[in-house]
Amino acid sequence: MFLKIQFSYTSLYPQRRKLRIMNNNTAPAVNISSDAVLPTEHGNFRMRVFVDKDGAEHSILSVGLDDSSKSPLVRIHSECLTGDAFGSLKCDCGPQLQAAMARIQEEGVGAIVYMRQEGRGIGLEAKIRAYALQDQGYDTLDANLALNLPADAREYDFSAHMLKQVGVSSVRIMTNNPLKINGLESNGIKIEERVPHITGRCKSNNFYLSTKAKRMGHLIPEHV
Ligand SMILES: [Zn+2]
Repeated sequence: MFLKIQFSYTSLYPQRRKLRIMNNNTAPAVNISSDAVLPTEHGNFRMRVFVDKDGAEHSILSVGLDDSSKSPLVRIHSECLTGDAFGSLKCDCGPQLQAAMARIQEEGVGAIVYMRQEGRGIGLEAKIRAYALQDQGYDTLDANLALNLPADAREYDFSAHMLKQVGVSSVRIMTNNPLKINGLESNGIKIEERVPHITGRCKSNNFYLSTKAKRMGHLIPEHV
């Protein structure tokens, strides 16, 4: 309850936030003009939006960052319209996002960095073209390559920039993807711990997850 009151307070009076930003980590947080409370079924998050040089709008959902001295639990989540919004079973994105929101609320300190890099960075139109090839038997990697698209075009420099803007320079990252760890580390974010994030495996996405483990270096056990 105390945290919820603080979020409302800082959203209403963002200029006051400068006075109380002394968490872990930390580079001083800066004022973000797009900053409000987002109530969800998991609890209240503070939502801040950032626009990159190409005009893409990324966001950070956070709880408790300003009030803790420990490295926050952080999930870098790349947009997946089909999984996040439509409940697709072809991937594990939807359950991963929901589990991360729940876990962060449970911890009371953490952030989801939601990056608008749909389809591992190739975009929605190309992703659905790749899905059509997967319907013909291609795996998730070969489908991209058959379309002359990269296997994974995501970048994490702007994610690291966003974390620094909210005063976070050290994280406990929830991921199975070593590229995310490298992406943050090479952009100046310290990784204190990797927290495995395994959820949402089902019959429909079993082959997809096995391919990510076998061919793309993801740290996913074969049987969960
Ligand atoms: Zn997905």
